[in-house]
Amino acid sequence: MRQTWGVYEGFFKCLRLGISVEGRAIQAYLGPGPAENMTMILAGFHGDEPKGVFVARRLIEHLSSDPTAGQGVGWMIVPIVNPDGYERRKRRNAHGIDLNRNFPTKNWVLSSRRSRMFGGTRPGGEPETLAVIEAVRRYPPQRIISIHSISGGRECNNHDGPARAIAEAMHRVNGYPVSSSIGYPTPGSFGTWAGVEQRIPIVTLELPSTHSSKRCWEENRGALLCSH
Ligand SMILES: [Zn+2]
Repeated sequence: MRQTWGVYEGFFKCLRLGISVEGRAIQAYLGPGPAENMTMILAGFHGDEPKGVFVARRLIEHLSSDPTAGQGVGWMIVPIVNPDGYERRKRRNAHGIDLNRNFPTKNWVLSSRRSRMFGGTRPGGEPETLAVIEAVRRYPPQRIISIHSISGGRECNNHDGPARAIAEAMHRVNGYPVSSSIGYPTPGSFGTWAGVEQRIPIVTLELPSTHSSKRCWEENRGALLCSH
């Protein structure tokens, strides 16, 4: 396995959660904090949203250089859920499937293959989706932040499940609106699977894609650290 972020192994343990369609490793960084107070942070579900990946990687660096910053929390950070899509800067995985519509939720629907939100021919059918599900089962988080980015001034702290208080705490730092809906239906989304169905508090953090990566990090460092 090619290891590009091994320099952080002093603080984080690097785990391979699974393998993408094209054989790339889906890596997780597991901190030394208590497993019973686990915050799971995921980014790069959509390969064309590199600002989320940047922010997740900066958080890995930040916690590595200042372990007191996130004390008392068992961090698990997955910077790139969809490494094949990220390699090409494409939203979907190598099968042309939107991973954030591929989770086995009650509201999963078969959508058009031509849709950029095509959720596959069956829910939970993609290796990247299964790797995330397995990680949530093996390392049960108390809360999850899933980092995306969005255009048109629609940045928000979008909460699913019992996560309103977390979204409000994040809002006080990043200033983005708190919302219970992104404004359109998201059948088969990770938020619905984890938050609505598994009852794990989850905030889908939609970064403003018009802001620089650096600004996204500066606006959200405190928001991610206060999320517990
Ligand atoms: Zn996204």
